[in-house]
Amino acid sequence: MTTPDRDNERVTDARELPGWTHVYSGKVRDLYRPADAADAAPGTMLVVASDRVSAFDHVLSPGIPDKGALLTSLSLWWFDQLAGADGGRPVPNHLVAGATPPAEVADRAMVVRALDMQPIECVVRGYLTGSGWAEYRASQTVCGIPLPAGLDNGDRLPEPLFTPAYKAPMGEHDENITFARTVELVGAERAAELRDASLEIHTRAAAIAEEKGLILADTKFEFGVDADGILTLADEVLTSDSSRYWDAEAWRTGTTPAERMASFDKQIVRDWLAAHWDQQGTPPELPADIVARTADKYRELLGLLTA
Ligand code: ATP
Ligand code: MG
Repeated sequence: MTTPDRDNERVTDARELPGWTHVYSGKVRDLYRPADAADAAPGTMLVVASDRVSAFDHVLSPGIPDKGALLTSLSLWWFDQLAGADGGRPVPNHLVAGATPPAEVADRAMVVRALDMQPIECVVRGYLTGSGWAEYRASQTVCGIPLPAGLDNGDRLPEPLFTPAYKAPMGEHDENITFARTVELVGAERAAELRDASLEIHTRAAAIAEEKGLILADTKFEFGVDADGILTLADEVLTSDSSRYWDAEAWRTGTTPAERMASFDKQIVRDWLAAHWDQQGTPPELPADIVARTADKYRELLGLLTA
C-alpha cells in the first residue's frame, strides 16, 4: 500500500464514513482504518469498492453502475469457495469473520486484516492474450518463459503459467517480471510459495468456472503476510477486474479472436478505449452503451458463477 495522495483525482468519491478514517484510495478501492482503534481488532481495515473503472492504468469516467457491489459479491463468493466450500484445502484469506461493514457501504465493502502486502501481482495465465500475447509475438515468450511456436491470440497454453508482475508504486505502471526477478524481490522461499499458491488457486477456480460454461483465461492475485508470517490471500479475488472470463462455447466455436474471446470482464472497456484513444493525455468519456454493456456483463458473470 502506498501513501495517500489527496491531490490525486482518485480520492474524489471517497466519502466520510462514521467510525472510519479514510487512509488511501487506489484506482478502484477506498481504504479506511477504524477511527477509534479500540473499537476494532488491531490491524483491521475497511476496503470499499467504488464504481470506478480503470483501464491502461487510468481511471475512466463515468463509473459502471453497481460495479462496486457486483465485484464485492463476486470476491466474497470466491473467498468462500476457496475457504473450502469447493472441497479443496482452505486458503487463508484477509476477511475478518463476522465483522460487518458500515450500512452506508454494506454491499460493496469488506472488513479485512491489514497485511504486509507482497509487491508482486501474482498473475496466472491459462490462455494467451493481452500483454502475454504481445510479449509472445515479440519473443515467443511470456514473462521470459519460452513457449511453442504457432500459438494464436486466445489459444490455450500448454499449461497454466505463473507470470508475475512487479506492483509499481502509485503512479507507475506495473511491469511483467521473470520468476528470477521475483526471487530477488521477495526471496526464494516466498517466491515459490506465491507461485505454488497462485497456480493451485487458479486450477481450482478454472475448474469451477468450467462447470458454469466459463473459461478463466487469466487472473491476478495479491497476497499479504499476516502477523504470524502466514501467506494470506488478500485484495479482490477472481473478479471481472482482476480476471478475464470468456464464454466457453463461443471460444470453441468462434472463428475470429473477437468471437472466441466473448468476455465477461472489462475487456469491453479496454477494446473501446484502445480504438478511441492514443494513450496520451486524458482518456475520453466512455459512451453510455459501453457503460451499460459492461454493467450487464458483470451482472451476468455473477449470475452464471453463483447460480
Ligand atoms: P494502487 O495501490 O497502485 O493504487 P490499485 O489501483 O489496484 O493499486 P485498488 O485496487 O483500488 O488499488 O486498491 C486496493 C489497495 O488495497 C491495493 O493497493 C491493494 O494492494 C491493497 N490491499 C488489498 N487488501 C489488503 C490488505 N488485506 N492489507 C493491506 N492492503 C491491502
Ligand atoms: Mg487493484
